[in-house]
Amino acid sequence: MVPVVAAASEVPRGRGSSPELKVLVGRDVSRAAISGRSLKIIDGEGWTHSCGDRVSVKATRDNRFALTLSARSLPGPLRIFSIDGAVSVDRGLFRGSIELINHAGRRMNVINLVELEDYLCGVVNAEIHSSWPIEAVKAQVVAARTYAFRRMLDSGSAYHLTATTEDQVYRGRSIEDNDAARAVRETAGRVMTYNGEPILAYYHACCGGATDSAADIKDRDLPYTASTTCRWCGDAPIYRWEFTIAARALARLIASSGRPVKQVDRVVPRRLTQSGRILELDIASPGKVVTITGEELRRIVGYQKIKSTRFVVARVGDSFRFRGTGHGHGIGACQWGMRRMAENGYSWQQILQHYYKDIAFSRLR
Ligand SMILES: [Zn+2]
Repeated sequence: MVPVVAAASEVPRGRGSSPELKVLVGRDVSRAAISGRSLKIIDGEGWTHSCGDRVSVKATRDNRFALTLSARSLPGPLRIFSIDGAVSVDRGLFRGSIELINHAGRRMNVINLVELEDYLCGVVNAEIHSSWPIEAVKAQVVAARTYAFRRMLDSGSAYHLTATTEDQVYRGRSIEDNDAARAVRETAGRVMTYNGEPILAYYHACCGGATDSAADIKDRDLPYTASTTCRWCGDAPIYRWEFTIAARALARLIASSGRPVKQVDRVVPRRLTQSGRILELDIASPGKVVTITGEELRRIVGYQKIKSTRFVVARVGDSFRFRGTGHGHGIGACQWGMRRMAENGYSWQQILQHYYKDIAFSRLR
């Protein structure tokens, strides 16, 4: 094992031993209700204000924030923390502190500053379930740690990653439990590397029989995400899906994305990946063909409706019926495959090496 990832020393540290991650937990909101024990706010000029156990903050103009319970107005950005290291924002409870950054006039972004290892405890039960076999939970933790750390190194914005499926789902302290904490502790600091660099460890719920490369799906050259067959997820409850939509409704949705479509007569796959995911398809109406990507169709119709681009589509009367396998974009690790591999005795290292090619394991300093 490579002992250290050099890049780890280049990122800010939390008060404990792990790097400090900035996670967007509220996007473009006008106000936030914040609570915690003996809250303190550090304003944009460096002054500290005591706020008791509860404060409601509203974004106003000129990068200022109104504290609505005390009628104070403070210059941003604001950093808010409590004496016991956890802060509630609206319905979420987060370790670390909260930063409020003015965004587009009277709106703000809510960012949780949290140590990487603490963050992971708030990811496990949002992404899978900590009652899964421990080696699968550890594989999930190492994938999530690697992904978050890579985003931390690459991100140029005020935050490193979002708390949704755009990156990985994070719900903070309220979903932590002992099994999640154990998987984090027993893999402390471990990340996957390729050529000595932490990888962008994409993963998804269920591959439907084979994964695909990031080069195919996202046009990103990440050699460690080469397509691989997966014989593990075939009995997953989310393996097969079906969705039917009226032709008129489909035309309306595609038109709402700005494309000149009034009617859909045929939906014809045009270009496939080597594992059979649809890269591009033709939306055909009389005298007109519009080509869109499979992932774009998922975005337009709904990621929970067309669950993957591994589907066949047929016209049935006035409707289109999509039948597919898998759930998610199909790059990197398959979460249900990880679960079944763990049930069959594979270690977290073996599981990850199955889904990511030519990787090594390193430890963040
Ligand atoms: Zn799979």
